[in-house]
Amino acid sequence: MSNAALQSKIDDLISGLPTDLFIAGEWRAAQGNKRFSVENPATASELTTVADASIEDGDAALSAAVTAQETWGDTAPRDRGELLRAAFEKVLERTEDFALLMTLEMGKSLSEARGEVTYGAEFLRWFSEEAVRIHGRYSVAPAGTSRLLTLQRPVGPSLLITPWNFPLAMATRKIAPAIAAGCTTVVKPASLTPLTTLLFAQILQEVGVPKGVVNVITTSKSGDVTDPLLRDERLRKLSFTGSTEVGRHLLKSAADRVLRTSMELGGNAPFLVFQDADIDAAVEGALIAKLRNIGEACTAANRFLVHKSVHAEFTRKLTDRMAEKSTGPGTDEDADLGPLISESERDKVHDLVRAAQEAGAKLKTGGGVPNKTGWFYEPTVLADVTANSPIFHQEIFGPVAPIIAFSDEAEGIRLANDTEMGLVAYAYTRDSARTLRLAEKLDVGMVGINTGIVSNPAAPFGGVKQSGIGREGGFEGIEEYLETKYVGLPDPNAGN
Ligand code: NAP
Repeated sequence: MSNAALQSKIDDLISGLPTDLFIAGEWRAAQGNKRFSVENPATASELTTVADASIEDGDAALSAAVTAQETWGDTAPRDRGELLRAAFEKVLERTEDFALLMTLEMGKSLSEARGEVTYGAEFLRWFSEEAVRIHGRYSVAPAGTSRLLTLQRPVGPSLLITPWNFPLAMATRKIAPAIAAGCTTVVKPASLTPLTTLLFAQILQEVGVPKGVVNVITTSKSGDVTDPLLRDERLRKLSFTGSTEVGRHLLKSAADRVLRTSMELGGNAPFLVFQDADIDAAVEGALIAKLRNIGEACTAANRFLVHKSVHAEFTRKLTDRMAEKSTGPGTDEDADLGPLISESERDKVHDLVRAAQEAGAKLKTGGGVPNKTGWFYEPTVLADVTANSPIFHQEIFGPVAPIIAFSDEAEGIRLANDTEMGLVAYAYTRDSARTLRLAEKLDVGMVGINTGIVSNPAAPFGGVKQSGIGREGGFEGIEEYLETKYVGLPDPNAGN
């Protein structure tokens, strides 16, 4: 596609987007007509502006969700499922629009963005199927003198806060199970990438999701707008995906009202390569685990722990493959890696690389800021990283692979678990007994064996330790939006 044709496609897409708040089924301006700017990280220029919600706008969104909750929780599960199914079809029909939009506001390549459309839409299909599988049970009490009935009811109005790195999938991963369970929602997307959520809200409106069931507020003052919602006794749940730092702050606020919470927080994934691994396969898996989403994924491999006997071979092969990767705007189908999300995030990555070098790490490739507009960073490999280097303990969120050698399985596991995070771990090995030992001993919520990707809408996604509380996706995902209620009944045979 020529540059002119691409620009005209971009102009059409952006000019047709909803950019106001979506409250009670209507698009409305923010109080005082306030707006804020959304930028393209590949060009550091403005894409458009969106409504900047005030505290009062946030309150209006919650009021709409509370009103809708009065009837929404009692709708037929099949009807809720059908709405999700229709949304699934519509999102897929608009794959190219969603992909281009995510590339523009977040920076990932078009091919990755298309992958996210498939992944994000799949939550809609999965939870359309789960909506009709909300069960209870009936049992005889052990003494036989009464009956126990348990049922599951929607938790109620939920605040859903999402990050910028997967603008569609992080929204559908929360909104779909909430709809399936019969909960109404106030959604607050990241201020850096609000456009995808607004387009998705328009699709929910088109397929007939009733007014007030999904409300979207975009704001440049996240804390100011959401803090009063967390204190509002009408709100029943917070589901948050983002950094551990913000998650910790929100958990403290939620504690005051003993609010139900789901927290999907940061990661610091180890990627273990054992002496019995297929090294070429491990290198390919490493590229996926490291470079997916330009390294800006909570599941990104953050520390490559490699057995000393294969360390040299793995380092050489990974360095060669990383050095082949080019940077460029995500709209350029020939570029491998788009820009990082912002200048400050790019600088943070560069500082981590420099600090690792100062602590003794050897730079194998990359390590620099390309001389071009936009927040690009070179694909980087660091060898001989020490466990006391900041890069070992901090989420990098960029295309940087630090490599550390280990001597035996026990040391590999100890290094892997030497972090306050516990989202995911990857391991390459051909030893099936070792696979099971790793599955048991790695202190994480998810383990990938001989694969560089674990995300799957049908699987429970989530972490332990400071990586979070709760699971999204899988059978578990809908449970986060359901309360179990028990009803005690007398023995129906008594007196007969
Ligand atoms: P972030 O800074 O924590 O922001 C996440 C969301 O919280 C955004 O919508 C943000 O809004 C909002 N927020 C920030 N401060 C807030 C406050 N005081 N009160 C209420 N909301 C607030 O995280 P991020 O930089 O967007 O995302 C990257 C992080 O997300 C990484 O740590 C990554 O590991 C994590 N993540 C985790 C998962 C998982 O499933 N475990 C998945 C994806 C990402 P603004 O945009 O307005 O600041």
